[in-house]
Amino acid sequence: MVNTIVEIKGVNKSFGPVQVLRSVDLSVTKGEVLVIIGASGSGKSTLIRCVNGLEAFQEGRIIVDGCELPCEADREVGEDHKLMGVRRGVGMVFQQFNLFPHKSVLENVALAPMRVRGKNKADAEAVGLRLLKRVGLQDHAHKYPAQLSGGQQQRVAIARALAMEPHVMLFDEPTSALDPEMVGEVLDVMRELAAEGMTMMIVTHEMGFAKEVANRVVFIDQGTVHEQGTPQEIFDNPREERTRLFLSRVL
Ligand code: ADP
Ligand code: MG
Repeated sequence: MVNTIVEIKGVNKSFGPVQVLRSVDLSVTKGEVLVIIGASGSGKSTLIRCVNGLEAFQEGRIIVDGCELPCEADREVGEDHKLMGVRRGVGMVFQQFNLFPHKSVLENVALAPMRVRGKNKADAEAVGLRLLKRVGLQDHAHKYPAQLSGGQQQRVAIARALAMEPHVMLFDEPTSALDPEMVGEVLDVMRELAAEGMTMMIVTHEMGFAKEVANRVVFIDQGTVHEQGTPQEIFDNPREERTRLFLSRVL
């Protein structure tokens, strides 16, 4: 389909003898906000890490923005350029913010556009400042990560991902490492991104946020897409027993 930006087809993924993803089929259309929910250990992180090539998968196909990711066997014969091509178009935000501790906030945001895109410093920093403003941190550009709160650091991590002008943003439990009072400021930034039409795949346990912002909710159970639907369908009227059981534990 023309509007599909991420397509996952029949993906199987194992770590050694342990199969973690089982025939996963999932597609994301442009501008869609997909929220992935499921119990710990069900394969959510592995799935989104496969989408930007951080994990290799053994079988199936993953196509991002028209670029097909190589499966594990193909990686060995020098298909790295394909991986790089996909990664450039995909922004990723982790539970741990992973900022460079010895670089200022602005340097954190400007670094990849300079190194990977070959932008000059002035341009990269101008864009960086604009992005920091967008996440409400223009006054902190010259501080170091350790001088910021967790919520502020996570907003820097979002600005840093946006600096590469991604077509898709992946979030893996972006608020799970935060003190409760800082969760809201990060979700607010994500809410704005969604409203601006960014395509997003978000793993989260913030069910209120999922209900409000998701176009589609996907419940992953033991490495399979067990059920998916609109937030209303999944939260108010789940069809599958396991979905109901999971929700009864987290809601
Ligand atoms: P979730 O994000 O839903 O909590 P994960 O994708 O992190 O789940 O993990 C799914 C399963 O894969 C778990 O059983 C986990 O122990 C296993 N796993 C994840 N990463 C690795 C790894 N690098 N090596 C071996 N097993 C892993
Ligand atoms: Mg995880």
